[in-house]
Amino acid sequence: MKEMQTKISTVKMERGVKGFTQWEQALRDASWYVEHCFGRSASGLANRGLYSWCSQDPANNRYRSRRVEVSPEEASFRVKRAARLFGADLVGICKLNRSWLYSKIYDWEKDEHLDVDTLISEDYQYAVALAVEMDYEALRTAHSIAGAATGLGYSRMAFVSSMVAEFIRCLGYKAIPLGNDVALSIPIAVDAGLGELGRNGLLITPEYGPRVRLCKVLTDLPFEPDEPIDFGVQAFCEVCRKCADKCPSNAISKGARSEWVDKLSSGRGVLKWPIDPIKCYKFWCANGLDCAVCVSVCPFNKPNTAIHKAARWLVKHAPSLDRVMIWLDNALGYGKQLDAEIFWKKVRARF
Ligand code: SF4
Ligand code: SF4
Repeated sequence: MKEMQTKISTVKMERGVKGFTQWEQALRDASWYVEHCFGRSASGLANRGLYSWCSQDPANNRYRSRRVEVSPEEASFRVKRAARLFGADLVGICKLNRSWLYSKIYDWEKDEHLDVDTLISEDYQYAVALAVEMDYEALRTAHSIAGAATGLGYSRMAFVSSMVAEFIRCLGYKAIPLGNDVALSIPIAVDAGLGELGRNGLLITPEYGPRVRLCKVLTDLPFEPDEPIDFGVQAFCEVCRKCADKCPSNAISKGARSEWVDKLSSGRGVLKWPIDPIKCYKFWCANGLDCAVCVSVCPFNKPNTAIHKAARWLVKHAPSLDRVMIWLDNALGYGKQLDAEIFWKKVRARF
């Protein structure tokens, strides 16, 4: 599938198709550089490069037999502060619900499936959920430069989560940095109070809507956990179907939430709008690039300005106005896709 995607995008580049020129594809491929060379979590690989489960810096061996004594409350504050310093835009903490662990991960070197329940011992009682913001303007070119915002998000995930894990190891505790691998990032982020699950199957955060990438660190350092939040997303999604209407592959449900979903790629037993990731991925391959329409059109995807904070306040406190808010969102032209050339012009205007 991936080869087909590359082939199609190369043909589009050779033909000079708008949004697929060498400029856009170079920007996109460069943004993935750190993830591709030092991460590989997007490919499902675990325990390597920046995502190594043990420290790769021999200088930090001196911390091995030194464990700081700290209260759970202070540990939460200090680790969150460190995560912000390392580049996380949002950080929350929860007790690790082991239902969110995958059953198996694939070890490419040994060519075998490994049992996650055995690999992640019961010592790992906590998860630090981390989110990095993606570029608002880039996301508006949903089939083109948006891929650069995604790639940069993955590269930053590897960068941030590895340093948070190393910080905790230097305190004398165990820590495993994870991208997409080993455990589901969205329910962990929901448990840690970063946001709510939307109709588009993504985490919707108060600050950036679905315009974030997620990673996490599992650890045995005892924390004071955060609580899940409710700022009106699920009620809003009941009346808004913008992501489902605009999805080019019909992968997002326009119907009601269900616990009974296709179990090939979605976990059963959680009330949510079913997503069809296979339809989505097939579209990416046929298009030659990934897609972020369901991120860019979402009314929660806005710059975190005073006016949008006021709109979010209304969504939380006056759900009876949700239909008016959706009408306004459409009437004001939010969610319209930008041409790649407009992205370059907007960038130029800033420099
Ligand atoms: S990424 Fe694109 S194709 Fe996939 S679900 Fe979102 S809108 Fe649909
Ligand atoms: S576009 Fe509308 S329905 Fe879809 S996730 Fe965003 S708010 Fe929910």
